[in-house]
Amino acid sequence: MVLSPRKAAKKAAKKATKKVAKKAAKQAAPVAAPAVRAPAAAPAPTGPDTVIPIPPTNTFNQGLSSASEATMLQIFGVPGQKTNDCSPATGAFKQRIVTRVNVGPFSVSGLDIAVQALKAAFDEAEEQIPNVISAVKNDGMLCVRHKRGNPNSFSNHSWGTAIDLFFGNAAVPQGVNKTYRGCLQLAPFFNKHGFYWGAGFSGKSVDSMHFELAEETIKSMTHRG
Ligand SMILES: [Zn+2]
Repeated sequence: MVLSPRKAAKKAAKKATKKVAKKAAKQAAPVAAPAVRAPAAAPAPTGPDTVIPIPPTNTFNQGLSSASEATMLQIFGVPGQKTNDCSPATGAFKQRIVTRVNVGPFSVSGLDIAVQALKAAFDEAEEQIPNVISAVKNDGMLCVRHKRGNPNSFSNHSWGTAIDLFFGNAAVPQGVNKTYRGCLQLAPFFNKHGFYWGAGFSGKSVDSMHFELAEETIKSMTHRG
């Protein structure tokens, strides 16, 4: 094998470096290890109330998409007024709203199938990540209003199929590409029970506190899709 001059030089340099390293190791060897170990650095915070970047969106929401307004209107009808803040539910879907149902960490009011799925997700998470369930807080489920970023469109909270969750003292606002670790830890359980995680929205719509019954779940649960 004939080495190019460049490769040969590289090889020689490597050899020389190795030699020097060996020599240094030999010289360093006789130094005794310190009797007292330096204290370990403080561990990185890992609790559910730690705020972390949202991981790549192909790592969650697999096979699930956000429920479109068209689908929601078609299946559940007009929920009420497209207001800025919560306004009364007036549509026929109102008969399917269940109120103050204990879902584990707290009680909620929302659409029957969404509250059932929410309880199932929390029950399963409680088995595996009880520290997350004991720390999770509810920032609202049923709330008839328009979308934060689009006054022409109903938020899925309007039908009580979405819930906002947070940890610590305040929710991570919409448009911020971060999440509480607790929301990330809950995401697999919510995905499994048919919820789409709002961390998958793009740009200013990204919303890591938001979980909603997915388009696919609503269609399969209502037999009308
Ligand atoms: Zn929300």
